[in-house]
Amino acid sequence: TTSLVWLRQDLRLNDQPAIAAAAEAGPFAALYVLDDETPGHWAIGGAQRWWLHHSLRALGADLEARGGALVLRRGRSAEAVRRVADELDAETVHATRHFEPWWREVEETLGDRITIHAGDTLVPADRVRTGSGQPFKVFGPFFRAMCEHEVPEPIDAAERFSKPDKLPRSDRLDDWHLLPTKPNWAKGFGVWHPGEEGAVAHLERFEADAGEYARRRDLPSEIGTSNLSAHLHFGEISPRRVWHHLRSADAAKFRKELAWRDFARGAITADPKLGEEHQRPARVRWRTGKQADYDFAAWSKGRTGYPIVDAGMRQLWATGWMHNRVRMIAASFLVKHLLVEWRRGAHWFWDTLVDADYANNSLNWQWIAGTGSDSQPFFRIMAPLTQSAKFGAADYIRTWVPELAHLSDAEIHDPADRGSYPPPLIGHREARERALTAARRG
Ligand code: FAD
Repeated sequence: TTSLVWLRQDLRLNDQPAIAAAAEAGPFAALYVLDDETPGHWAIGGAQRWWLHHSLRALGADLEARGGALVLRRGRSAEAVRRVADELDAETVHATRHFEPWWREVEETLGDRITIHAGDTLVPADRVRTGSGQPFKVFGPFFRAMCEHEVPEPIDAAERFSKPDKLPRSDRLDDWHLLPTKPNWAKGFGVWHPGEEGAVAHLERFEADAGEYARRRDLPSEIGTSNLSAHLHFGEISPRRVWHHLRSADAAKFRKELAWRDFARGAITADPKLGEEHQRPARVRWRTGKQADYDFAAWSKGRTGYPIVDAGMRQLWATGWMHNRVRMIAASFLVKHLLVEWRRGAHWFWDTLVDADYANNSLNWQWIAGTGSDSQPFFRIMAPLTQSAKFGAADYIRTWVPELAHLSDAEIHDPADRGSYPPPLIGHREARERALTAARRG
């Protein structure tokens, strides 16, 4: 029988259970819906539109090479999926389980017509639960419980697919205008290779370095991490494949980090509003008004006068990605040094990250802001200048803040002689005092 595969953040052929099930049943067509309506203000951001364009192009070519077909439609997912399934006379719609609340709502409206397959987590999410059947709220116990299950082995794609005799109409990808035109801010995105092939290349590149991950992952000047986040977000590679590929004992630290992704999926299942509402009340008086807007703009442009923060924010703008340690420093700086509410920062990340992910982004921002259920208290204030020196960020700063490139390793974190580089928006000690006061008064 003919079926339809509805693709979302699972843009791959290998270890793709929805495609595998459809292919086994007979002819199928794959559908991607560009849906800017259902997710509301979580519609795909600017940087990810660039990624999506290239990823869909690659997937379309891969499907065709095996005799399959990709159909593109724009509009509300629930209607588009139903309509294309009707046009195909498809009884079943196969899809991968996704955890974003807006996707779950669409899945519900499709009722019996949709068959959902686990493929976006290491272990099917409903198997890793507390004694009372709830998702875990703290990572440690979650990881211990997860490790009691086998991570399923990845499955390879069939060599040949068969497609229905009559295919539904498809939009042209270029007509979606996903790429920036003027100004073309994506010039620095050439470091990425969206699609399954690019994902596998990154995995293989990282394999040789995985043993060094524990030592290098916090050093922004080195390429010590996998750079797989956007590939994982778009599902161009399955987390299970990454897990099994990096099996050696010295990759243990890496695998544990990878499990944070599963943990975050549990967190948005338990708390669909994780990106919008505090998990724990924030007793902080945030700054608002003109001066706060000015500070937020300086932060987003990489002009705070704190070299490590600015290097991160400029790396983000130029490449759509930021090193994890620097994400922590930059996010904490916005929330605690500038006392700007974390949701503004999370939205900026949403629009500028190629790996923007509702679960990972929301969980990490709440953690930094001290409002997450498993997070540090607000009064723990990161010292950006100390962090910058401790994690050897001098070369990283030289790359992204070239005005400071001539300074020595000792001077560059907190330069006395700044030339054209801006003065700090606020001194560290003063910011600390202000944050502690705001937290007492909030
Ligand atoms: P690696 O260190 O190689 O890790 C491998 C994979 O594990 C990552 O690709 C990611 O899928 C997962 N992972 C690692 N750390 C985390 C973590 N702390 N939380 C959840 N998953 C993790 N990650 C996103 O994928 N999307 C986001 O929108 C996002 N927003 C963030 C916002 C803030 C404020 C912070 C502090 C972190 C955020 N992260 C986010 C987590 C982390 O910074 C990135 O996953 C990581 O930097 C991606 O680089 P990598 O693939 O080289 O990571």
